[in-house]
Amino acid sequence: MRPYSECVRHRRLGSSGLKVSELALGNWATMGAQVDDDVSQALVRAALDCGITTFDTSDAYADGRAEELLGRALTGVPRGSIELSTKVFWPTGPGPNQRGLSRKHVREACHASLRRLRTDHIDIYQAHRFDPETPVEETLSAFDDLVREGKILYVGVSEWSAGQIRDAAIVSRDRGYSPLVANQPQYSMLWRIIEEEVIPTCDEWGIGQIVWSPLAQGVLSGKYRPGARPPQGSRADDRDGSGYIARWMTGTVIEAVQSLVPVAERLGLTPAQLALAWVLGNPSVSSAIIGASRPEQLAENAAASGVELDQETRALVDRLLADAIHWRRPA
Ligand code: NDP
Repeated sequence: MRPYSECVRHRRLGSSGLKVSELALGNWATMGAQVDDDVSQALVRAALDCGITTFDTSDAYADGRAEELLGRALTGVPRGSIELSTKVFWPTGPGPNQRGLSRKHVREACHASLRRLRTDHIDIYQAHRFDPETPVEETLSAFDDLVREGKILYVGVSEWSAGQIRDAAIVSRDRGYSPLVANQPQYSMLWRIIEEEVIPTCDEWGIGQIVWSPLAQGVLSGKYRPGARPPQGSRADDRDGSGYIARWMTGTVIEAVQSLVPVAERLGLTPAQLALAWVLGNPSVSSAIIGASRPEQLAENAAASGVELDQETRALVDRLLADAIHWRRPA
């Protein structure tokens, strides 16, 4: 059996009994897109070696190829030693029922994800966005059926508002459905939108945060320099990736992030480790989903698990990033 690494710690997912690794590996924009099958396999092996046991994907990433590559890379890994998380909502085909959160699409998408992931159950199944065209009761009842059938174990949402999460939690409670226990929002030193309403609501309902882009897609690693071309092979240098990361590639953000470099150095950390330790310093965060294009990045980032930042450092981060932080969703 693979030796169990002590490097990355585990946390409880909200008020559920499930433990997730506090750093998870996600494969959006990488597996099946920026990186090929061999690198995907190397990334999964490196993650397991660091003690990462939670893996996040979606049926929409690389048109299903991301789930396929993850399923292939995890072949032979004892199923009980990992937690698999995937999502449903975004189109998987041209038809009007090949998207959204209707009972029909949720069931068909779940079965397709199970096939691509080569497993008989998904540990955490999430509604990738809110669907205004499907009653929330229909979606939650479809999720609940899948739980009863043993095809999914825990239910979550991604990028829903505090009000949508509260309404869904009430429906689940009143109808005796499997409760929402996971929320997957964007959260980083630079993107604080969930602090005001989403986190307090989720805390009240026992829903843990599994946050995405904790490095602001790599920008918080400090590797992008003011006025310089993005390093070769980086997301900002990638044909598709450069579009995704564009929000953060402004002079204001890049310069503010450079001011964190000496702060990280003084603490004996890399800027990426500082950024991840900062996210994990929020007790409502169960896990931060990191991406990687190279295995070495995972070894570096995994060392952030267990690092505690004091209040003085957190206040300094707020001051240094003041002009670059989003507290509210831009209009
Ligand atoms: P991150 O903020 O962790 O960015 C990851 C990227 O940063 C890597 O691919 C790499 O890109 C770069 N990087 C990572 N570590 C380092 C390092 N130590 N030094 C330098 N560069 C580094 O997360 P992602 O934006 O990749 O998102 C993570 C996951 O979150 C996704 O895979 C997905 O599972 C989930 N997600 C969920 C969404 C949702 O709507 N629910 C939306 C988006 C993501 P490179 O080397 O190419 O520059």
